[in-house]
Amino acid sequence: MMRPASAFGMLALALAGAGEGVLSAQAAEGMFNTVRVGGRNYVNVADLARFYRFEGNWKRAGLDVTLRSKWRVFRFRVNNRECFVNRVRIWLNDAPIEARNSLLLSEVDVEKTLDPIFRPWAVRKLPVRTIMLDPGHGGEDRGATGTHRTLEKHYTLDLAARVERLLRAEGFRTLMTRRKDGYVSLEDRADMANSSDANVFVSLHFNSARPSRGPHGIETYCLTPAGLSSTGALTRRFGLGRFAEAPGNRCDRNNMLLAYLIQQGAVGGIQGLEDRGVKRARFHVIRATGIPAVLVEGGFLSNPEEEKRLLAPAYRQQLAATIAAGIVRYARAMKPATP
Ligand SMILES: [Zn+2]
Repeated sequence: MMRPASAFGMLALALAGAGEGVLSAQAAEGMFNTVRVGGRNYVNVADLARFYRFEGNWKRAGLDVTLRSKWRVFRFRVNNRECFVNRVRIWLNDAPIEARNSLLLSEVDVEKTLDPIFRPWAVRKLPVRTIMLDPGHGGEDRGATGTHRTLEKHYTLDLAARVERLLRAEGFRTLMTRRKDGYVSLEDRADMANSSDANVFVSLHFNSARPSRGPHGIETYCLTPAGLSSTGALTRRFGLGRFAEAPGNRCDRNNMLLAYLIQQGAVGGIQGLEDRGVKRARFHVIRATGIPAVLVEGGFLSNPEEEKRLLAPAYRQQLAATIAAGIVRYARAMKPATP
């Protein structure tokens, strides 16, 4: 059941003729008029297309929709949470729907998933001087074990050290949640981020799955917005009591921009690296940190071919370089605009 919100469509009219620059300072919230369907707010894709200058460049084939502008390509599929922005896979919180001959995208996705990517300059400027790297696992917590008996905890530390060197070479200060093979609890990792002067937190992991010949590739997680379900979970909305606002939700839009830039850097920079997408989860280290935070799963140790690639220091260096480059691009986006 759909009820048109009052003055729905008026904003779209007002926006026609307004360049992106005019609206660049506005927050995404309240940018669009919304319609309610099934208790959720949705934005009409026609309004979105106009706002982001996709105008006149629509293509629809069955359930697949492609929007093009001078700056970007946005592809999505009706009733599917998977979408692509400039060929990078992004998992929406809610599937786009079709109702009353209109294509609709959830307002939360427009505000917290798409807008930070489409308009990085409109994301709140949180300047970056210090970056905290978090090599996953350590000590008795070995993490995943590869088919060549590779232990995740060693490879996360190796990757973090490589990323750190590259960030320092770019002039950033860096901190690490661990520098040796010792156990650090998830709570301590988040506490370290919150009690330090770090401006960004990047947790590094490698994946594992059964069967071992199954999945491979990189995925980058950022925190699920309050009240919504994570990637892979059923498309359901939970009461705020259950998935309440966490410290990490203060930076929802920054989290997404950081995750997108890291994922884009890695899949664009490494040939043959499978793009598993930017995903949403409530991992403790990204939920409890009050600064922009992401968790990178840099590949599957359980996949023998990917594990073999990861065993080569030159490949790990390449992976580190793309991750560092993504962080650096995020830091540049956080610089105050020069008039
Ligand atoms: Zn891990």
